[in-house]
Amino acid sequence: MTTEVAITPVTLRGFGVSPGRRVGVVARMPDAPPAPSPEPSAPGTDLEGMATAVDDAAAQVRDSLARAAEAATGEAADILTVTAAMAADPSLADEARRRVLENRSSPARAVWDAAELVAEQLRALGGMFADRATDVQDVRDRIIAELLGLRPPGVPDPGHPFVLVARDLAPADTARLDPGHILAIVTAGGGPTAHTAILARSLGIPCVVAVGGAEVLADGDTVLVDGSTGEVVRHPDADAVARAAAVRSRPTRLERAGSTADGHSVALLANVGDPAGSVAAAEAGAEGIGLFRTEFGFLGRTTPPDIAEQVAAYSRVFAAFPGRRVVIRTLDAGADKPLPFVTADDEPNPALGVRGLRTSWSHPQVLEDQLEAIARAAATSSADVWVMAPMVATADEADSFVERCSAHGLRQAGIMVEVPAAALRAGDLLLNARFASLGTNDLTQYAMAADRELAGLAQLSTPWQPAVLSLVQLACAGGALHGRPVGVCGEAAADPVLAPVLVGLGASSLSMTARALPDVGAVLASVSLDQCRALAGLALAQRTADEARSAVRAGLPVLAELGL
Ligand code: PEP
Ligand code: MG
Repeated sequence: MTTEVAITPVTLRGFGVSPGRRVGVVARMPDAPPAPSPEPSAPGTDLEGMATAVDDAAAQVRDSLARAAEAATGEAADILTVTAAMAADPSLADEARRRVLENRSSPARAVWDAAELVAEQLRALGGMFADRATDVQDVRDRIIAELLGLRPPGVPDPGHPFVLVARDLAPADTARLDPGHILAIVTAGGGPTAHTAILARSLGIPCVVAVGGAEVLADGDTVLVDGSTGEVVRHPDADAVARAAAVRSRPTRLERAGSTADGHSVALLANVGDPAGSVAAAEAGAEGIGLFRTEFGFLGRTTPPDIAEQVAAYSRVFAAFPGRRVVIRTLDAGADKPLPFVTADDEPNPALGVRGLRTSWSHPQVLEDQLEAIARAAATSSADVWVMAPMVATADEADSFVERCSAHGLRQAGIMVEVPAAALRAGDLLLNARFASLGTNDLTQYAMAADRELAGLAQLSTPWQPAVLSLVQLACAGGALHGRPVGVCGEAAADPVLAPVLVGLGASSLSMTARALPDVGAVLASVSLDQCRALAGLALAQRTADEARSAVRAGLPVLAELGL
């Protein structure tokens, strides 16, 4: 007689950061190997043989990366080609070989130390070279894994669609995510506004971050991932699997202009970072651009791009939206986006330091040139160009930015509200600034005093925190005093459950990753403006972020229909 062992579902909880419900089989991303022991090899060890092992492992890694680069397309191919080129450079293996032969280091330790040396040299060169230091570490981990017989680090390829489970994803890993193969992402680390969440949303992959107990999820486990509620169910029962499978596939295009059920218009705009993103946003049906992050043209350089180069780049972004609104943000350097020519690298608290508009205090010409480039690009485009500054805290800063814009003929000058001080005194800041856009990622970080990249603070780092919602309400009220539009362009705008609340609090536009537009549009179209206001009141009346979210979810029957 056989005894059937029933496998009971186990529910883990994290933060749902990219909506959608999927069932699939787990493939775990191996952790990077730890630092190998520095203990020298015992006397009598075959040092030549160990040096050859280093060469062989490096050759294996070089060949497998070259094959992967050839097979990949788009951004992933670019990244893999760079990593493969790094693996093909003999300096790392030569240095490791030398350390095995001369210092008697173990092969793995020799590779570790040699990589540190090469990475250090690249960091010292700065700019684009410094960025390559992480590629060296990637190659290092692969060679060490090969030497120790471990699975190679990075996104696994089990040969079938899978649910990716990882401790956290590095930027280089996220560029290798293929939405055709990855059904959902579950991470133990990461926060709702960190890069993994932003990228998963932009790729339309359901994602739950900061999942407690994620280490129990093993290769081959079947899991149900709910990117809306933040639930991850290990061994889901047949009913739950059937319900997840029944959810229709998500639309990828916004088919009609944003509006509530009773016709109150809410512009649904896209966040973009480069010309390709702008074209994709237009294809996804965005009504315009609500946040054009201009950092892409500045990152990885040691001097700013000149005016002509900026004009060319901005013109290409504007060209995708003829006759439509394009809100361009001036350079937001500092904190998580350091730039050697405007930010110091020795600030004790960079998130509270000279970042955003503040960099223009010591480097006014960088802003002048950028405004000049924006004005020239706007002059030859039919797009309705609005300009805004990041990290504005005071009315003085707002006034001075508006003046500088106006000197370049840019009349539609506004501010981002990302600092609680700006939200509290929005009426003062919007006396002269023509509009505001709420950067809820930073507004949440500063309101809750919680670093947006820290997984351990994920329960604080959510715009559902009643304190953040109160700041949104105050900012909108400040705008209303002068009839200024106040939109939202932080990640909060991409949350289809939060969207009606933001509108009820007074937001006039929502700007998000293009992928989120159809869901946000559908939820908004299901409620009247009065219902949005009631939902906003309901959220504000709660004492905790979880209670606010649950209360609003319960008031939105459309979510079940949409599988959100
Ligand atoms: C924000 O802080 O919400 C925002 C939109 O700006 P960024 O994410 O670029 O800091
Ligand atoms: Mg910000």
